[in-house]
Amino acid sequence: MSAKLIDGKKVAEITMNLLKEDVVNWVNAGNRRPFLKVVQVGNDPASTTYIGSKTRACRQVGIDTDTTHLPDTVSAKELKAAIRSFNEDDLIDGILVQLPLPSHLSSHDVIESIDHRKDVDGFHPMNVGRLTVDQPTFRSCTPAGIFELFQYYSIQVKSKHAVVVGASNIVGSPMAIMLSRENTTGKATTTICHKFTKDLTSHTIAADILVVAAGQPNLIKAEMVKEGAVVIDVGINRVADETSDKGYKLVGDCDFEGIRKKASWITPVPGGVGPMTVAMLMKNTLLAAKKSIYPED
Ligand code: NAD
Repeated sequence: MSAKLIDGKKVAEITMNLLKEDVVNWVNAGNRRPFLKVVQVGNDPASTTYIGSKTRACRQVGIDTDTTHLPDTVSAKELKAAIRSFNEDDLIDGILVQLPLPSHLSSHDVIESIDHRKDVDGFHPMNVGRLTVDQPTFRSCTPAGIFELFQYYSIQVKSKHAVVVGASNIVGSPMAIMLSRENTTGKATTTICHKFTKDLTSHTIAADILVVAAGQPNLIKAEMVKEGAVVIDVGINRVADETSDKGYKLVGDCDFEGIRKKASWITPVPGGVGPMTVAMLMKNTLLAAKKSIYPED
């Protein structure tokens, strides 16, 4: 078997074009353009790259954005005061604090200081909580993007055995929640694995749908995957590559070449899940502007 490729770049492009039309219709109906406020603390190069791609995506779909850049010495009090002022600004629809934060800042604390009605990353406990009780919510962008890919390629999730490797608050855990809900999204029987899981292979080999978000290059090898499985590789890892000008290349968490001979569907890295994450951020920002999740009284 040779797996079919899940082309996240193409699906993201289609999604972005549809969103662009939605934004035009929204503005033509007499509304101002949606506005996304990005907050960057410090100068982490990867964060700067991610913010660059989010800013370009905003431009592409017609969403206004700017980035407030704070030094990595900023105190929790100062950062939360800035966020509070963005919460109160009616011209700001969505707020995104780029993670990771410097170690003296608690990301939980900072995320909770964002008004949940502007939490377009879907990380606020209110939005995560609503996800678990089947209520409309800002869905975390990476899992939401993976569900768009399932839908686009008509990949059946219902009643399948889904296994998620990785249990972080931003990817693995919301992915597992969405896969497992019986009344809304996934309707799959779901197993969550993490670094304390014993005998990882005994779980991954049983997966019809395998989602890997561990941040460990080459963690999942062909012999750990069931014949015909759908494999979604969320990992983005920099590994040394002397043939590249940058001196590194991006790889996922899966042995792509080995697994593609066994799986039915597979996402490449790059060009798989990554572009969908940014597209879902745009979608959430438009939902925030329209007050679709939390209508005003
Ligand atoms: P994280 O470090 O916060 O969490 C990693 C999770 O993987 C943890 O739950 C940990 O227990 C688990 N894990 C680590 N080693 C493991 C092992 N050997 N066996 C089983 N479980 C193991 O990372 P994260 O923020 O969830 O990101 C995971 C990966 O996904 C990273 O490579 C990150 O760059 C990437 N990512 C990609 C996108 C995208 O849009 N494609 C978005 C977010 C994160």
